[in-house]
Amino acid sequence: MRELKYDVVVIGGGPGGTPGANMLAKKGLKVALVEKGVGLGGTCLFEGCIPSKIYIETATRYSEIKNSSKFGITLSYDNISVDFGALKERKEAILKARVERAEKIAKMNKLDIYYGVAQITDKNSVEVDTKDGKVKLLFDKLIIATGSETVKPPISGINLPGVIFSEDIFKLEAKPDSIAIIGGGYIGVEIASMFARVDTKVIIIEALPRILATEDVSISEAVTEGLKNVNVDMYTDAKVSVIEKEGELLKVNYKQNGEDKTVQAEKVLVAVGRRPRTKELNLDVLNIKLGNHGEIPVNEYMQTENINVYATGDVNGRIMLAHAATRESIIAAKAILGEKVPMTYNAIPHAIFSEPEAASVGIDTTKAHELGYKVVRYSYAEDARALIVGDKKGFVQIIADPKTHKLYGMQIVGKGAGELIAEATQVIRMNGKVEDITATIHTHPTLSEIIAEAAEEALSSF
Ligand code: FAD
Repeated sequence: MRELKYDVVVIGGGPGGTPGANMLAKKGLKVALVEKGVGLGGTCLFEGCIPSKIYIETATRYSEIKNSSKFGITLSYDNISVDFGALKERKEAILKARVERAEKIAKMNKLDIYYGVAQITDKNSVEVDTKDGKVKLLFDKLIIATGSETVKPPISGINLPGVIFSEDIFKLEAKPDSIAIIGGGYIGVEIASMFARVDTKVIIIEALPRILATEDVSISEAVTEGLKNVNVDMYTDAKVSVIEKEGELLKVNYKQNGEDKTVQAEKVLVAVGRRPRTKELNLDVLNIKLGNHGEIPVNEYMQTENINVYATGDVNGRIMLAHAATRESIIAAKAILGEKVPMTYNAIPHAIFSEPEAASVGIDTTKAHELGYKVVRYSYAEDARALIVGDKKGFVQIIADPKTHKLYGMQIVGKGAGELIAEATQVIRMNGKVEDITATIHTHPTLSEIIAEAAEEALSSF
């Protein structure tokens, strides 16, 4: 077996692994990146953020075309439809371009990539079974960035044909007529919004009292209403026990308020969560104990209990989002370079590309009430650009301390929410105040002015 010595070995070529590996290689360290998939990009590129948004983009455009009469557009098509085959091809082309770009950057930085499953063999080496044979990579430091995997709950019938997981959505050759989605978290809700807007009948079954249960209640309520408007049926406090085949369809049996109920659909998507991926690693040899949810515990520099080993991204179980993974990857690389910058979690935004779009950063309403902070809501309907783009229902919610005016949180529901949240993220990160928004000049007429108007409203209420 070939043996090669590296300063740093990184396992996992997703957002939690690649950025740090590139940074270290660019700084002149000898770095190997091991990836078991077909290219660099991880879940985010191949099965997550990017394909889901490609499909959502098509669904949004399709539904906008169908509802364009309010913009003075008269359509004379007999039939408009979404071609799932063409959509899949578009997705493949975008993914290919992203993989090629990632490999070009790695090459420029002299980062060595090994494709194959990495297995930790002892405290200073991993073995990789590549297509050219086995290699042993010796390391001084190791970064584990193996991501997470879909949870497959013990529901009877989960292995039936037609029962799928989020990663299968982007392989479908045809649009299903109906889909039952078990799980109303952000993955289930985004996929529900996508299918509902391309005329698939969608049913969501959620075990908790509301969909998007971990979100601010204002977001959960607004998205519930939005989904109802695109004819999604939602059953909450509903626990699925069995999935069965019934003719051409699948029957989902669930219990709600003590009653046995069923729904039928062509496909059933199981989207009940993700868990850290550590199975294939052989972690025992590193003396690292997993946490209660199977995660690799780390400190603020992403260092594990073994000081030569770091864990970044979904695998450390802190925040399962691509941009958090990217930052953690950089934090670990900096720590290895001797520049100790702690990871902070108070200003990590996230967006839900649902119907309507929603985004949030910082603390939520419940926490605000506990801390005695003020929650001020401002409607999109007050803003010129919102009327131009046809969104009167959206809102911005500001959470701030009425005494110090410090900004602690923001929720946005409506068009552009995912982009608009960046301003609040920056202010919170810089320990800023509501005045930092009102004193900033926003382009007219843009949706960004809603943030400034909401901030003015908040100030006058303190
Ligand atoms: P991953 O991206 O999972 O990468 C880990 C990599 O490690 C994989 O490529 C894997 O093949 C490799 N690997 C694992 N084990 C080994 C091994 N033993 N040897 C070699 N290689 C190995 N996040 C957002 O921020 N925004 C979104 O809009 C968003 N949408 C999502 C939609 C869906 C449907 C899903 C499923 C997820 C979404 N996410 C989103 C979450 C996001 O994909 C993850 O948070 C992100 O990919 C985590 O990055 P990571 O590098 O930690 O893990």
